[in-house]
Amino acid sequence: MSPDLKDSKNIVILGGGTAGWIAANAMIDRWAEKGFSITLVESPEIGTVGVGEGSTPQLKVFFDRIGVEESEWMPRCNATFKNGISFVDWSTRPGFERYFHPFATKIDKHTATAFYFNTYARRQGVDVHAHPDRFFLSARLAENRQGPKPNENFPFFVEYGYHFDANLVGEYLKEKAKASGVNHVQARVLEVNQAPDGAIASLYTDAGEDIAGDLFVDCSGFRGTLIQETLQVPFRSFDKNLFNDSAVVLPTEQEASIGSQTVSTAMKYGWAWEIPLTHRIGNGYVYSGSFCSSDDAETELRTALGLLDSDVEARHLSMKVGRVESHWHKNCLAVGLSQGFIEPLEATALNLVCHTVYDFIETLETADFSDEGRDGFNERVNLGFEKVRDYIVAHYIMNSREDTDYWRQNGENKHVPDRLQQILQIWKEGKSLGQEIERQQIPTSYTAQSWCCLLAGYGFYPDIRPAPAGHPAATRVDMAEIDDFIGRCSMNFRSQDDQLRV
Ligand SMILES: Cc1cc2nc3c(=O)[nH]c(=O)nc-3n(C[C@H](O)[C@H](O)[C@H](O)COP(=O)(O)OP(=O)(O)OC[C@H]3O[C@@H](n4cnc5c(N)ncnc54)[C@H](O)[C@@H]3O)c2cc1C
Repeated sequence: MSPDLKDSKNIVILGGGTAGWIAANAMIDRWAEKGFSITLVESPEIGTVGVGEGSTPQLKVFFDRIGVEESEWMPRCNATFKNGISFVDWSTRPGFERYFHPFATKIDKHTATAFYFNTYARRQGVDVHAHPDRFFLSARLAENRQGPKPNENFPFFVEYGYHFDANLVGEYLKEKAKASGVNHVQARVLEVNQAPDGAIASLYTDAGEDIAGDLFVDCSGFRGTLIQETLQVPFRSFDKNLFNDSAVVLPTEQEASIGSQTVSTAMKYGWAWEIPLTHRIGNGYVYSGSFCSSDDAETELRTALGLLDSDVEARHLSMKVGRVESHWHKNCLAVGLSQGFIEPLEATALNLVCHTVYDFIETLETADFSDEGRDGFNERVNLGFEKVRDYIVAHYIMNSREDTDYWRQNGENKHVPDRLQQILQIWKEGKSLGQEIERQQIPTSYTAQSWCCLLAGYGFYPDIRPAPAGHPAATRVDMAEIDDFIGRCSMNFRSQDDQLRV
């Protein structure tokens, strides 16, 4: 018989990376008053992955939910504001060598219609301005190194994410969780004991302690000690769609003024991120080990950063890209790298962590441990992963580089997920992307605006041809008016440096 929530009050979390501490904070915040006890076990010897420095707006939602102010956590974690991501050199189409993926603002509704109209006209072959950047306030803010928080007289909310030091965020969340009552055990788990029905019964540590629980949260990182190694839940790799499986990381010094965007630049065998923190810039090259060696990747990144002769040490990492078949199996919930990972191009991992944790909390509170509740949860989380994957795959399919086999094989990859194929088809046929996105009911990932920015940003358009007389696409948007409007709006925002000083 399935246990009831009211009988399952001992929660044990394995792993003290960002995923473990996010889960601990969310659960203690929701369930402390209901008499739950939460224990988090982590091994300082094993350590955390220690990367992951960019977020989506979902991280703000998480901090708001657990009642933490930016003025409290951001300075402690060397965090900065992020307006979105620039993609540089992914496309070779003239005029489309870079574009910006903006987070949404309330202001967008005044300019997005013109953008959609121009992308529609351009898809009919009409020669209009159909690159996204001039249409979105966040793009202007990023270009000007302005922060996303408006002055008081400008009553329109601008969505934003953050950049931060992953280790410091982990430390901060640990302190907060412990202050809220989470028990913290520092020990290595050597054995996982199972009940006769296969459920997890306890974790045996190198301190000789047997930690029993009702519900186990696997935040053990890529190894997936509970969900994969113990419960043998199969892992579905995304390697046919996403070739990158490695990364090399190198910090550089902060510039005179702090930027307010992530920059993702295409390299020979992958792409490099540039993430501005308050005290340094985080850089990393995400690449495919099937196309280049780790030494070559490090040399290429060092050359790009001007660090060939520097003794700054590089960190090398492997990535397992894909997801487990079920994120909640028996009495185990997998959160973070143990449940799966999609390469960090759009910095979505912590977004998926937060969705998983809060969906689980809601499901348990409403459907208890019922099979239907669990199955519905697994379906939603799987869909969330796949829809993020589709968006990331679109970047690779859209690339038009020819300089290496890596880019050619990405561009020609025939393993295009069905939903993505439908989106590309709708775009090519000049139909409404908004309707298709709505039809696919994308819950945790990308809006029509994001999709349009991506496809338009890569210059995925037919050749220019004369519009038939009287065709609606021949109507012109006044770009000077758009520029002026965005310019006037942007005057209500101070520089990132100023906004971080408050
Ligand atoms: C190259 C790269 C770039 C990334 N960039 C981003 C980004 O920009 N944005 C983003 O949101 N995410 C990013 N991520 C993902 C992000 O780093 C992770 O999602 C996040 O750090 C959560 O990791 P985790 O807590 O699941 O695992 P980990 O950090 O690996 O933590 C695992 C924990 O489990 C513990 N553990 C494991 N086994 C045992 C055991 N037997 N006994 C006791 N303890 C054990 C470890 O000690 C550790 O505390 C990136 C990932 C990579 C690889």
